[in-house]
Amino acid sequence: MDTQTTTPTTHTFKAEVKQLLYILAHSLYKERDIFLRELISNASDALTRMHFEMLTNRDVLDPDAELAIHLETPEAKGDEPKKLVIKDSGIGMTRAEMETNLGTIAQSGAREFLARLGAGQIDPSDMIGQFGVGFYSVFMVADSVRVVSRSYHTEGAAWAWTSDGGENFSIEPADKTDRGTEIHITLKKDAEEFAQAWKLRQVIKKHSDFVRFPIYVGTERANQQTSLWRKNASEVTPDDYKHFYQQLTLDFEEPLATIHFSSDAPVNVRALLFIPAHREKNILAARKEPGLLLYSHNVLIQEYATDLLPKWLSFVDGVVDSEDLPLNVSRETVQNNRVMRQLAETIRKRVLRELKNMSENVPSKTDGEKYEKFWNEYGRAFREAIATDMEAKDQVLPLFRYASSKSDGKLISLDDYIKAMQEGQTEIYYVLGDDLKSVAQSPHLDPFRARDLQVLYWVDPLDALIAPMMNEYQGKKFRNIDDAELELPEEKEEEKQEEEPTTPEYDFNVLLGRFTSVLGERVLDVRASKVLKDSPIRLVSPKDDHDRERQRLSRYFDKEYQVPKKILEVNRNHPLIANLAHTLHDHPDSELAKLTIEQLYDSALVQEGLHPNPAEMLPRIQKLMALAVEKGD
Ligand code: ADP
Ligand code: MG
Repeated sequence: MDTQTTTPTTHTFKAEVKQLLYILAHSLYKERDIFLRELISNASDALTRMHFEMLTNRDVLDPDAELAIHLETPEAKGDEPKKLVIKDSGIGMTRAEMETNLGTIAQSGAREFLARLGAGQIDPSDMIGQFGVGFYSVFMVADSVRVVSRSYHTEGAAWAWTSDGGENFSIEPADKTDRGTEIHITLKKDAEEFAQAWKLRQVIKKHSDFVRFPIYVGTERANQQTSLWRKNASEVTPDDYKHFYQQLTLDFEEPLATIHFSSDAPVNVRALLFIPAHREKNILAARKEPGLLLYSHNVLIQEYATDLLPKWLSFVDGVVDSEDLPLNVSRETVQNNRVMRQLAETIRKRVLRELKNMSENVPSKTDGEKYEKFWNEYGRAFREAIATDMEAKDQVLPLFRYASSKSDGKLISLDDYIKAMQEGQTEIYYVLGDDLKSVAQSPHLDPFRARDLQVLYWVDPLDALIAPMMNEYQGKKFRNIDDAELELPEEKEEEKQEEEPTTPEYDFNVLLGRFTSVLGERVLDVRASKVLKDSPIRLVSPKDDHDRERQRLSRYFDKEYQVPKKILEVNRNHPLIANLAHTLHDHPDSELAKLTIEQLYDSALVQEGLHPNPAEMLPRIQKLMALAVEKGD
């Protein structure tokens, strides 16, 4: 109906937009420059969409127009306010699109953004674009804005959206015969610098140098728009890489690693890949989906190509360009393409090789730290690789790093472990647990400490998941040290202190019987330990208990967690055990002894990372304390 009307229609901004505009108009921001980055990035998005449309459809308005962005600063007469116009030949907007796109906030994160902005916790220049509200940043510098746009459809008309950043905007028909969008900005008095070409060039250089389309200020090209990945690595400076990465992802941090390579066989490829400093993308990141930019002959054919990397490497970001891909490929042909498979293989190998190099560059201290940082951030992804990608195992196991009972908190590789193995040692020992602190206290370590044997700490929840799949490395089997049947070499004579058992045989047997009657079904067996030194008891797994890792995992994932049944081993020489046996000898019905047995068992579960709810122990602990205090001394 009112597509025919010539009088403007007035609309009210959605509440969040009003709030945002109010804040933007009434605050002083140091980096107002970024409004330009936002408008250019919108223009670039519109051009990218146009580009993709034209890969399959030539029936569009102005099919031959250059895909480009133009900035103009019309001469202002006398006292008139200064103006800036940003034009693109992108996909344009219909009337309806204008009304929704420039009147509401699409993203859910916007509310949080507003809250933090309102509380003065953040400066909008840092993050406005990433919340999908970039357009509105123009009101940091504008008294009023008029957006004139014409959609790429051949029929249809041009429309103008106008607002002064208050409560309302209006939409009316406009004169524009060519495709795309123009943003006419009437600059605030204190923002007149943005009507100067040199200033615009400076801002473009800083924030938009690598935008994929040419940006003209007047008639002069302002961005270098180089396909950095097509250059030789020797021609590219570290700063170029950094800026390219940051403009690609809007990450504030530098990438942890940059991988730039080209190759002609078996497939032509030029790639520039990045490993972000953090695995968790902040909700603000520009590239929210995983995937690489895929180019053929320097022309973008996919914005998020996910077939080029295995899923577990999807944290890698960047650009891949191949001359072997046909230019006019559709999504389906890209997927089932031999070239794509070769590209994927090449990229995977290359990324893993870079990581291997990074992990081995230990002579320089900084590189060692870099790999450790990498591993702490992405180690989880490699555990996923073991769980989901059979082929990956041999490639990724050399990259694994663990803390160990002998590494002093440092991370060591499996190769380091094997190198340090004792004569006669044939297996790689590991202990599962919830975290480094508790695992370091594990009673299972007693016999290993006594023999100076190294044990790896497996404390990532996924370690339990992948334990059954690990099998062996370099011919050495992995072995969980909570294994009841574990055979260890004899202790060295001089370290072995044969002591008289502190607990008399009879009392000790009574104590074992008491453990059995108190714990009942909860344990499979109670027996004397041959290996414990510093710990009173431990829980070990029966032979061939292939289920133990699954039980541990179900604690993380299941509501129906059942505490797994284990064998309880008791250390006859431990003072606590000796005293307990003594107490039972004197007071066979001692309440304190019973509570102590319960508590020892619960503590062992906590120690193993198997307790369903440690808080349940608190009433008993209180009772124990009450009894202890009562006894005095
Ligand atoms: P975002 O870019 O994150 O979507 P913006 O606030 O920057 O959020 O822009 C809002 C929407 O307005 C865009 O998603 C797009 O649909 C539309 N838009 C903005 N600028 C243009 C433009 N130059 N050409 C076409 N559409 C545009
Ligand atoms: Mg935007």
